[in-house]
Amino acid sequence: MADEKDSDRYPGIDRTNDRPVYVVGGGPGGLAAAAALRERGVRAVVLERSESVGASWRRHYDRLHLHTTRRLSALPGLPMPRSFGRWVSRDDVVRYLDKYAEFHALEIVTGVEVSRIEPAGNDWVLHATGGRRLTGRAVVVATGFNHTPHLPDWPGRDTYQGRLLHAGEYRNPGPFAGKDVLVVGVGNTGAEIAVDLVEGGAARVRLAVRTVPHIVRRSTAGWPAQRTGILVRRLPVRLVDRAGEVMCRIAVPDLAAQGLPRPDTGLYSRVKEGAVPVQDVGLIDAVRTGRVEPVAALESFDDGKAVLADGTRISPDAVIAATGYRRGLEDMVGHLGVLDERGRPVVHGGRTPAQAPGLYFTGFTNPISGMLREMAIDARKIAKALA
Ligand SMILES: Cc1cc2nc3c(=O)[nH]c(=O)nc-3n(C[C@H](O)[C@H](O)[C@H](O)COP(=O)(O)OP(=O)(O)OC[C@H]3O[C@@H](n4cnc5c(N)ncnc54)[C@H](O)[C@@H]3O)c2cc1C
Repeated sequence: MADEKDSDRYPGIDRTNDRPVYVVGGGPGGLAAAAALRERGVRAVVLERSESVGASWRRHYDRLHLHTTRRLSALPGLPMPRSFGRWVSRDDVVRYLDKYAEFHALEIVTGVEVSRIEPAGNDWVLHATGGRRLTGRAVVVATGFNHTPHLPDWPGRDTYQGRLLHAGEYRNPGPFAGKDVLVVGVGNTGAEIAVDLVEGGAARVRLAVRTVPHIVRRSTAGWPAQRTGILVRRLPVRLVDRAGEVMCRIAVPDLAAQGLPRPDTGLYSRVKEGAVPVQDVGLIDAVRTGRVEPVAALESFDDGKAVLADGTRISPDAVIAATGYRRGLEDMVGHLGVLDERGRPVVHGGRTPAQAPGLYFTGFTNPISGMLREMAIDARKIAKALA
């Protein structure tokens, strides 16, 4: 049972029903899990460290739209309104998440950060902000795949005099108008930021590429790439690699002359290694017309200059590192032996680790079929397992 003191501290937590399921994180994954649990009559309390739900989405860059369709991105029990259009904007995602919490009358306590989770008999104790201890009968960890920005420790980084920022801090091209910018990393975020910079008036945009990405059209003749991702999910990897190669050759021009050759590994093989293809929202055109210049990977800084893998030394005004995120789960659950060597949970959805029954995870896979869709599926599985 939760401490008496906690009910004073967190008035949103209803003490009349002890041992709720605690959901850590009020992003789409946590909200979906809480709603699905509630639907099955299980009391769920969401603990969110920031002051509102959907905190990650409130921080994303201005131009962001979902790459997955409205219909295939809705969470359990509430469709997204048609007025949001097919590719939902960041602001509408935030609106939807606010509405979602209200519609399902979710119990959410904001301003509570969970630092560690420990077993206590059949229950779980969560160590939270201000030395608080909360006891639940189960815990759903939904703290996000993109938890901690990863800025590589490039040698000589301190010598760089320009502006160096992680993509998570990027909002819009305004501050970069007229500037020479190097974007590092060509995942979906790096690709989109590069295009945003070009369209927003940056003087020069270079894109540092370590591994050439697979690029797919967001939709072809009205058919969204996400639907293909769903259809092929359970097919053999080699078969999908072959089909992907054919599709890419038809849909995407050869950009080898511009510095972006076709990858020599299969699309689905790469997905299995954790690299989702880049959905084109203008990159192909920008590279084809020379407005975004692919260059070799950033290796280091020397005497204030950026040194690329092919030895080129350049002096951009700003470097934007679209170099990904870490899961950041080690401190919270690392001691429970539930993480793999990459720091990802060994189970997700309705499965719970044998050594940690009652501990669930959602949002830590990056499937080709869309993460929001996957979290909606996981939410239902978690609720079923706990009901
Ligand atoms: C730029 C970008 C675009 C994306 N576009 C799509 C898309 O088009 N389609 C799609 O399906 N997916 C997309 N995704 C992937 C995914 O759907 C989103 O990242 C989604 O927000 C993940 O939801 P989540 O709830 O798992 O994590 P988050 O949204 O990151 O939510 C986690 C929450 O947990 C809170 N939190 C973290 N640690 C703690 C703690 N210790 N205690 C308490 N609270 C904590 C955070 O404040 C946050 O509110 C995109 C991701 C990014 C980064």
